[in-house]
Amino acid sequence: MRGTIPLGTVVGIKASAHWSLIVLLIGLFGVLLWQGTDLLLALRSLLLTGLLFLCVLFHEFGHAIAARTFGVRTLDVTLYPIGGIARLERMPAIPRQELIISAAGPFVNLLLAVGFFFWSLANGHNPGFSVSAQSPVSVSLLWLNLALAAFNLLPVFPMDGGRVLRAVLAMRMSYRMATRVTVWAAQVLAVGFAVIAIFPVPLFRNFNPVLLFIAVFVFFAARQEGNQPPRNPVSDTSATP
Ligand SMILES: [Zn+2]
Repeated sequence: MRGTIPLGTVVGIKASAHWSLIVLLIGLFGVLLWQGTDLLLALRSLLLTGLLFLCVLFHEFGHAIAARTFGVRTLDVTLYPIGGIARLERMPAIPRQELIISAAGPFVNLLLAVGFFFWSLANGHNPGFSVSAQSPVSVSLLWLNLALAAFNLLPVFPMDGGRVLRAVLAMRMSYRMATRVTVWAAQVLAVGFAVIAIFPVPLFRNFNPVLLFIAVFVFFAARQEGNQPPRNPVSDTSATP
């Protein structure tokens, strides 16, 4: 694809990184040094961010390999600053297959989290919540993978969780109706987010522009997903939290 830097071909699937991700990583490193961060700490931050994107790549390959078991080809996998995209040639019309393909990405992150949990213990590190360049890399990656799994499993389009919900509903009703219900659910949740972002409620007393942005994004992304005809080429977006 244009504007991307090839990372290699794994199990016959081409992986690449969009140039904006490389700019982001170099920019992050530059800003840290400019702020007077110790060189070693800046390098650790760069390493941690790079490893986080590697975990996103594994997530995408989870989808791609699950898709392959159902005879669905993956055109390519690309990493962007907001996450990864595995372009599947189509999504199978059988709900159980869509469910497995959609859940495979977050499942990879859960597996990685379990791996990093035991790796942390084996090295004598406390696996309690800690994500920073100063904490052990295995502990940070444990929590980042848990966050990736949880965020992607949110039951709203265009997250994997939205597709999982649609597939579960499609086992009980028509695909069209299942899509409609999932879009409604996402939009109700988005309106809820917007209310929390704008009005003072317990825990979120102040105006929260980030949450409002997420609410607006979910509302329109869900509607767009609902307009997509089934069985067309689809993109999987796995966002980095
Ligand atoms: Zn995904």
